[in-house]
Amino acid sequence: MELIPHFLSGERVPHGQTRTGPVFNPSTGMQSGRVALGNADDLNRAVMAAKTAQPRWAAVNPQRRARVMFRFKELIERDMEALARLLSVEHGKVIADSRGDILRGLEVIEFCAGIPHALKGEYTQGAGPGIDVYSMRVPLGVVAGITPFNFPAMIPMWMMGPALAAGNAFILKPSERAPSVPVRLAELLIEAGLPQDIMQVVNGDKEVVDAIINHPDIAAISFVGSSDIAHSVYARGTAAGKRVQAMGGAKNHGIIMPDADLDQAVSDIIGAAYGSAGERCMALPVVVPVGEETADRLRGRLVEAISGLRVGSALDPEAHYGPLITAHHKARVEHYIQMGVDEGAELVVDGRDFELQGYEQGFFVGPTLFDHVTTKMQTYTDEIFGPVLQIVRAKTFEEAVALPSAHQYGNGVAIFTRNGHAAREFIQRVDVGMVGVNVPVPVPVAYHSFGGWKRSAFGDMNQYGMEGLRFFTKTKLVTQRWPDGSATGNNAFLIPTMA
Ligand code: NAD
Repeated sequence: MELIPHFLSGERVPHGQTRTGPVFNPSTGMQSGRVALGNADDLNRAVMAAKTAQPRWAAVNPQRRARVMFRFKELIERDMEALARLLSVEHGKVIADSRGDILRGLEVIEFCAGIPHALKGEYTQGAGPGIDVYSMRVPLGVVAGITPFNFPAMIPMWMMGPALAAGNAFILKPSERAPSVPVRLAELLIEAGLPQDIMQVVNGDKEVVDAIINHPDIAAISFVGSSDIAHSVYARGTAAGKRVQAMGGAKNHGIIMPDADLDQAVSDIIGAAYGSAGERCMALPVVVPVGEETADRLRGRLVEAISGLRVGSALDPEAHYGPLITAHHKARVEHYIQMGVDEGAELVVDGRDFELQGYEQGFFVGPTLFDHVTTKMQTYTDEIFGPVLQIVRAKTFEEAVALPSAHQYGNGVAIFTRNGHAAREFIQRVDVGMVGVNVPVPVPVAYHSFGGWKRSAFGDMNQYGMEGLRFFTKTKLVTQRWPDGSATGNNAFLIPTMA
């Protein structure tokens, strides 16, 4: 059985310890390999090598660092199909979706290929007599990324791109449930010309995360995962003096106004609710039709669209979505479906007991639809992270705006309408970080930044774009004076002013 090892200083490091964890092919339900579960010593080895090498990498001029990004992009494009297949087999998302996962990460790498421009500081000539002031962005040193299972390519690239291009050394701790693609990405970075000690992958679970938090030579942690763990990493990481950004869970709402183009909205909602089996932090698991008439029309159309969905193995090119990540997660999603029934929601389409011929042991859950879900229900307040769509009926626009605003999560939200005024009001008033107008999954492009509000993100800097770059750098400000020797009367005891 294949062992997915650590990737330290340019090499897959043979297994030298006792702990490993199982990795599955979710489509078949069979174990496909084992992943090394590292400890504090493995992490320390990675950090020590990275720390020694980082100053040399920081001193490489930014254009040369950008060239590594260019070559990395070319290598990913070269290996796209193999990477997408590896990702699909281990994660369960269909191949087209895996390509999307890789491509959205690649867009961040493309942005980072412009690092010389992005790192330029600000300059003021003549801030005082003979005085010029300028700022520069310098790397933090050794930084770490901790990533979730659901985007094994995109999210590591959100972090490694800006971290490395800015001149840091980067330690990645990928999800132990989907570690193969992250290790492969690290290999490609070295092939692209990155010095081998600058990128390290330490596989593992909580033990490595704790070691990252406690390691004195790690300056910053970028985390993406579920909210409780995000909050804990944020609290413990900042208490240890580190800079931390920690993205958490989500429960994104789609508001359907009575004037919405229902054909478009239904097609968008179906894709956003069930795509990748609902295992996306920008999935749309709650739909809020405004008015009973809109709700009835929407429900009818959703049921019709669901009947045309094809759930299949990750390698089935016709499938709309594949299995969930693990048997445990499948059981959790099914538990939530039962909870919805027990709480009094109307189960319109039940995806439990879905079986795919030839893949009877796979971790599949069929598309599930609830109507008459209320805000008091735990199935509404919790993130389910499966192919479960909930209809929460709102009487008015006001009620619809209030729902996502009052929810504990505030990652993304979308409104479907033809009314520009309603959309504008919604954008301004809704208490959520990323808003789509007739766009169901409003993940910002790579030159903007990604981040939710409330319990969807802890810390104040977003992922990728200029915010990502700020996260992985600190500003140095220089005030320099080159006097001509003629100035007199400066009182060195006073706070200097430019007057
Ligand atoms: P998770 O929280 O279980 O795991 C995330 C990372 O934390 C993994 O690397 C894991 O090994 C580590 N981890 C797990 N348990 C830990 C513990 N007790 N202490 C320290 N570290 C621990 O998340 P997941 O199930 O892999 O991913 C799904 C979650 O991630 C969902 O909640 C989803 O909404 C969220 N997510 C958020 C975003 C975003 O940008 N906001 C993006 C993708 C996924």
